[in-house]
Amino acid sequence: MKHNRYKVLLIEDESNIRSMVKAILYANGYQVILADSCQSGMMLFSSHLPDLVILDLGLPDRDGLEFIRHIRKTDVTPVLVLSARTTEEDKIQALDLGANDYVTKPFGTGELLARVRAALRSCRISRDAALPAGKFQLLDLTIDYNRRLVTVGGGEVSLTQTEYNILDFLSQNSGKVLTYSAIIRQVWGYDDPGSVKKLQVNMANLRKKLGAKPGAENYIVNELGVGYRMNDT
Ligand code: CA
Repeated sequence: MKHNRYKVLLIEDESNIRSMVKAILYANGYQVILADSCQSGMMLFSSHLPDLVILDLGLPDRDGLEFIRHIRKTDVTPVLVLSARTTEEDKIQALDLGANDYVTKPFGTGELLARVRAALRSCRISRDAALPAGKFQLLDLTIDYNRRLVTVGGGEVSLTQTEYNILDFLSQNSGKVLTYSAIIRQVWGYDDPGSVKKLQVNMANLRKKLGAKPGAENYIVNELGVGYRMNDT
């Protein structure tokens, strides 16, 4: 099985389609989180911080458009709509609310995978546009910006896209205190007081993966109540 670093949240109430899409994604190396209602989708979105959402619109509790409206207040995570609604108005409505793409049912496996890759790519390109090339080195930690590869003591560290983007931003400003809102704006594109919790969850996971012991400030210093600072090389 192929592996990639992407986590996909699939919100779909029809169990046969859910199983099929899950199998397709899983076979192509994606991590998949499943939700069968709008409400559970919103909860899993906040707790799992996926890299991409695949969203059905006809959900039992609420219209899937509500999900887009809800997350777009604070978040730029790509959303791929997968729906049986085929009119142009339906598509325009979803896209205007902030969906990144729209696939109508029935769909082909190849098409779905291509749209998933495109949505992830467009999101990555817009975030990477200003990145300089090269490497960052601090103690045992190395970041290869060209390959988006992070190693500690020579061993590769597997990060989610969001964790990588946070590390990337901190390392390119090492020595500088970056406020919560500056990091949130850079990584998610929106600044909202509710996003601080999301940043803290990602940061805790990132530091755990980098091997920082509790209390030890090997790489990233927590400036309590203000933000974070990457130690200087
Ligand atoms: Ca449905």
